[in-house]
Amino acid sequence: MLIQWIQTFLLRNYSDIIQGLVFALITIILFFKKASRKTQVIKFILSFFVAFQTAEFISYILYQQLTSLFSLTGTLYDFLVATVCLLLPIFLMIDLYRKVIGIQGPVGTFIYTLFFNTNCLAMLIAMTTMQRMLITVVLSLLLVFFFREEIQYIVEEKSMLRMDRRFQWTAMTFMILIGAEAELPRIVINGGVDDVTNQLAYAVAIVGSLLVLMFIIFMKFNFFAIMKYENYIRNHDDDRITNAKSLAYLLENGAIMVKNASVKHQELAIFYSNIDHFRDINILHGYDAGNNILKKTADYMIAEFPEGIIGRTSGTHFTGIVPLAGAMQKFASISRKIEELSIDESLILQIGVCPLKYLETMDHHQVDYNNLAPIVDLAATALRYTSPKSPVKFYDEAMRKNEEIRLHVLAHIDQAVKENWLQNYYQPLVDIKQHKIVSYEALSRWIDPVYGFLTPDQFIIPLENARMIYKVDLQVLHHYGQFLSKMHNLHQEALPISFNISRTDLESGIDIYTEIQQIINTYHIPKSLIHVEITETAINGDSKLMKQALQQFHAMGLEVWMDDFGSGYSSLNVLKDYHFDVIKIDMEFMRKFDDRSKTIVRSICEMAQSLHIRTVAEGVETKEHYDFLKEVGCTYAQGYLFSKPVPENVILNNQLEIK
Ligand code: C2E
Ligand code: MG
Ligand code: MG
Repeated sequence: MLIQWIQTFLLRNYSDIIQGLVFALITIILFFKKASRKTQVIKFILSFFVAFQTAEFISYILYQQLTSLFSLTGTLYDFLVATVCLLLPIFLMIDLYRKVIGIQGPVGTFIYTLFFNTNCLAMLIAMTTMQRMLITVVLSLLLVFFFREEIQYIVEEKSMLRMDRRFQWTAMTFMILIGAEAELPRIVINGGVDDVTNQLAYAVAIVGSLLVLMFIIFMKFNFFAIMKYENYIRNHDDDRITNAKSLAYLLENGAIMVKNASVKHQELAIFYSNIDHFRDINILHGYDAGNNILKKTADYMIAEFPEGIIGRTSGTHFTGIVPLAGAMQKFASISRKIEELSIDESLILQIGVCPLKYLETMDHHQVDYNNLAPIVDLAATALRYTSPKSPVKFYDEAMRKNEEIRLHVLAHIDQAVKENWLQNYYQPLVDIKQHKIVSYEALSRWIDPVYGFLTPDQFIIPLENARMIYKVDLQVLHHYGQFLSKMHNLHQEALPISFNISRTDLESGIDIYTEIQQIINTYHIPKSLIHVEITETAINGDSKLMKQALQQFHAMGLEVWMDDFGSGYSSLNVLKDYHFDVIKIDMEFMRKFDDRSKTIVRSICEMAQSLHIRTVAEGVETKEHYDFLKEVGCTYAQGYLFSKPVPENVILNNQLEIK
């Protein structure tokens, strides 16, 4: 009984079944050639079930139900209902088909429309079911062959076509026209092909054929134009040195990747990287050597992330949109290979990564250039947190918070000055021979009404980068001026301070010398009470500027102290060329405190002594440090052994004493 039923079913529907099988086969060949056997079988079955014949079956039922529900008659009504009944299930099937092949956008629609259109055409011109089947199958295969390059192009390349809605809608419009033209359900229900005998039917068939022809020509030219345009863009857009993409290309095509990844439930991330220590290679070994390293870097990245998009934004900055899974191992492998390319100093690839969960929109259909661009910025933010020791950093909540604080600081610096959010803390410097506090270093603290106590890292570095740190530095002097008056009123003797200025104070276009002089005048601060600290690394910049600073401050009658000596790369020659009054030895030497550091500290102190320069050791935390400094003849010691930086009240109340 069942076998007989199956036999009659197959005999009656063999045309549809064969068409469905061909459709499923073509789908496998186009999209799943490299997939596993199991996937191929599953996709084959699924494609078979979303093929045209299922839509046709649903539309048949729909049409029957609708016409029996409302017993309206009339050709126009019949025509409209038939067309709607035909197209609704088709749209549903196209959507399912796109899910089956896992590619959003027009490629699925296009393949589907090829089969649909030939099917409609076959309906119009075929005389028998056999003819209809043959025409559909042969024409579909011919069309797939005719469009093979175009289909491959959208499948493989990250083409704009993959997300272009207009392209999709054009294909759909043709389909609606051709579908309406075929008036399929009515023909099927009324006995189908036998009706196509009169003049009208021939005319309909001819119009249908012309529409299909127009569809083919239109699509061919449309593809041609877009492919040509994209090739042009690609040739002019790709980086000549490395073949990496431009940022614009990455963002536009990244949006397509996001859509496809969402179908596959794949997580993506954007990375932003820099090759540290690369700078000197161009100068020392020539641009070819430098370019070679850049080219290889891009090659390694492309090889590790074949399904991603790798771009180069500038110089040594590479960025990319890549699958998150397994990314860490791939980064490690790329870094290892880049390190092997080192010539002198070892090249370190530092990478900031931002997973796309930080996208503003969670709706993947809305992802575009504009909301991907901020993710590149977040990856660049994460890059700022990398160091040679931890070269890969993921963007996280803490960074978001820091970034929020950074922007808050930049937006509120003037208010902070006006409303005294900035305060001076003082850390004593102990004269080692006399074992007593002889001066303080004034250090800024930002006590924020919203964020509370900010560390210098949180406000000094952002303000330095924005060249606004002079506002803080001048404020320190203002507060010291006020502090002196308070001391005076309490009949206490005030000790001198050293205050920090940044290199950007010398560069930011304000006249820092006059500004300082004005504060000195306002509060009548004796010149002997204030010393200027400038970090050693400031010398790495414009040496003329530094020499001028020394000269000017000396002319104003102020001592100039070199801060963090030994933290930069300058040698002891600095002492010969720049006339500092005091050098502050970087606290790293105390932190390490091995034989090597001790030897260096000893020779700095000896050298300084013979040049009549006084020395301060920073970061003195233990008795052992202190005894050593005494032995090597260091002048002053500063560090937690005596006191952390304290608010001015502690000094005003005479509470600061050393053991
Ligand atoms: P710096 O000028 O080298 O200041 C010394 C830093 O070392 C201070 O950190 C101080 O608290 C810390 N320190 C002192 N003794 C010890 C110790 O024994 N152990 C350890 N681990 N640390 C110790 P702070 O206050 O966090 O300041 C950090 C940096 O921020 C300063 O380094 C200075 O470069 C900058 N800075 C602070 N205030 C100002 C300012 O008003 N203007 C400018 N331009 N920079 C400032
Ligand atoms: Mg300092
Ligand atoms: Mg220092």
